[in-house]
Amino acid sequence: MSVSESAIASAEAHTAHTYHPLPVVVASADGAWMTDVEGRRYLDMLAGYSALNFGHGNRRLIDAAKAQLERVTLTSRAFHHDRFADFCTQLAELCGMEMVLPMNTGAEAVETAVKTARKWGYKVKGVPQNQAKIVVAANNFHGRTTTVISFSTDHEARADFGPYTPGFEIVPYGDLTALETAMSANTVAVLLEPIQGEAGVLVPPAGYLAGVRELTRERNVLFIADEIQSGLGRTGKTFACEHEGVVPDMYVLGKALGGGVVPVSAVVSSSDVLGVYRPGEHGSTFGGNPLACAVALEVIAMLRTGEFQQRATELGEHLHHELGLLTGGGAVDAVRGRGLWAGVDIVPSHGTGRQISEKLMDRGVLVKDTHGSTIRIAPPLVISKEDLDWGLDQLRAVLGA
Ligand code: PLP
Repeated sequence: MSVSESAIASAEAHTAHTYHPLPVVVASADGAWMTDVEGRRYLDMLAGYSALNFGHGNRRLIDAAKAQLERVTLTSRAFHHDRFADFCTQLAELCGMEMVLPMNTGAEAVETAVKTARKWGYKVKGVPQNQAKIVVAANNFHGRTTTVISFSTDHEARADFGPYTPGFEIVPYGDLTALETAMSANTVAVLLEPIQGEAGVLVPPAGYLAGVRELTRERNVLFIADEIQSGLGRTGKTFACEHEGVVPDMYVLGKALGGGVVPVSAVVSSSDVLGVYRPGEHGSTFGGNPLACAVALEVIAMLRTGEFQQRATELGEHLHHELGLLTGGGAVDAVRGRGLWAGVDIVPSHGTGRQISEKLMDRGVLVKDTHGSTIRIAPPLVISKEDLDWGLDQLRAVLGA
């Protein structure tokens, strides 16, 4: 048995099988490249589901983390610490908002958004207790907790995990009429991904996000944008909502906020909304810890330069141009996405998304399939054009295109 095979066998024996990873065992990584335990190198075209927008081992992030590791890593929110105010102020400013409620994982931040919207509904909007409704979109992916899967339409994510949390209505993604019909007097929020990542990088029809903004404003309903995967540079803007000139009432952020170094997530909103909380009503031991704040502050500083958004725009144009040439050539049905982010639907006769991912792995490129025949491409934004082209060459070779 090789070192990889034995590591995989041990993992299979001693961990719950909640994932079906590609058979690669990574030992180190740098920039857009990963190296496995046998010394083979792979181009990372997934970037930790967009948590690694700034690349593996990003010097600024590692230095910020190291410096903070030597000072203080955790205080809990029982005390203040000297990175917290800067983190909240600067993240709020980046978002054009006023207040931040930090958490750790994406799902926790979504839970926080749900709780916040409900509390705002009762305290500010005047919805009768326990009647609050949140409208969400079909094919959403907002995480794995019990409440979050309660409003999933993915059978695998939900089956055998009931009873489910009530208070959600699901409408088709991209359908403004359905959304308008679903919104009633007790609706407190509409929760959407501006681009549905896990569903296969689905970009809504032009005008949809602006329409959601208009409808929610008219009805005094909060527009919550889950930008955990779409935000922080990936699409060529700091937020995917910006492509339609839309500012939601609340951003839900995660993944790249921690630079792939530490888990950092947050809900960012106005003081009218996040101001509803009182001590004891919500919290997290690690939420907003000094190490998380130190890394996130560096992430915010990097985003402020606009350099990464620019790279995502330029390299994204190239990526979509090249992928567009594959469409209709017999191997690729459709390509969607924005910036350095693409969902590629493979013609089923060429193999499943999984089979294509495995063949790419054999050629030194790591991607991940989703929903049967789709592969997602989302390399770190620091990838060079040459490496991106090399990765695309491997895709063309695998598809025989
Ligand atoms: N929301 C979106 C849009 C996501 O893409 C994800 C993860 O893929 C989540 C929420 C959940 O984040 P986490 O896995 O950190 O809980």
